[in-house]
Amino acid sequence: GSRSSVTVIGLGPMGRAMVSAFLKRGYEVTVWNRTSSKADEFVSKGAIRASTVNEALASNELVILSLTDYDSMYAILESVSEKLSGKVIVNLSSDSPEKVREAAKWLNERRAWHLTGGVLASPSEIGNKESITLYSGPSAIFEAHRKTLEVLTGTDYKGEDPGLAMLYYQIQIDVFWTVMLSYLHALAVARANGITAKQFLPYVSEILFTMPKLLEFYTPRVDSGMYHGDVEKLAMGLASIKHVVHTSKEAGVDASLPAAVLDVFKRGIASGHADDSFTILIEILKMSGA
Ligand code: NDP
Repeated sequence: GSRSSVTVIGLGPMGRAMVSAFLKRGYEVTVWNRTSSKADEFVSKGAIRASTVNEALASNELVILSLTDYDSMYAILESVSEKLSGKVIVNLSSDSPEKVREAAKWLNERRAWHLTGGVLASPSEIGNKESITLYSGPSAIFEAHRKTLEVLTGTDYKGEDPGLAMLYYQIQIDVFWTVMLSYLHALAVARANGITAKQFLPYVSEILFTMPKLLEFYTPRVDSGMYHGDVEKLAMGLASIKHVVHTSKEAGVDASLPAAVLDVFKRGIASGHADDSFTILIEILKMSGA
């Protein structure tokens, strides 16, 4: 046909934003969701409701999944796996790189292609070229569908390994949730002292604003294994994070997050690194993970 078309499976907040973006750009969109009623609003806007997963697959070569995790994919596709041949499954759900590699293999064994996508955007940013989705998987398949995928967000193709886009995604989400929780922890301490989120905002913004410069400074050092304590020493860091834990306790706020940080600092000191930079802690983390 002359109209571009796509199937979207999964109508959570993210999938719904994706369907809206495709409809807005004039795509013929076939939708399927476990809870069928979530498709209603889109049918009235011109989307096609597939009544079965089989129908959803049959409608288009390109099938986008937006689900809670990769187990949801198996829950949906396992029973129709003989209908997967020739399909391009673009999975925009979150999971671990190993889970993703297994899923790519599972699909390849059923003669389907798999592309991994890690969406670095909130639902309201879908349809906006400035937000980015990380992709990996077969480059020819990615190139063949890039135009359609770029209806959703800009794209950043990381390579053939299906796990790679997910790895890049998860290392950013690692920072995201930890920083967001540290923000909530600091806000709880602030509030316990009568300071509002609004009053805190310029101050928390300021500390986050200084971070990229700090990372730029430490990047070449960390890459070359240089943990020299010429700017700051781990012993100073230990004293400093202790004060954060004490301030939290004085405020009657759960200190488990700064206490976890303190614990890693203590292990660095115990390993004889009091005079090194706090960046030596990456070696401590590496050891405890092994
Ligand atoms: P949701 O967890 O709300 O997505 C739920 C979707 O998965 C629904 O369609 C749900 O169906 C379906 N689902 C879950 N379990 C199953 C199952 N066992 N069988 C069939 N279908 C199942 O997530 P979002 O829409 O918010 O996000 C989708 C993905 O995008 C997630 O991986 C998320 O990490 C990622 N993401 C989300 C962002 C956000 O801000 N929301 C931002 C960036 C990435 P049903 O409706 O029937 O329950």
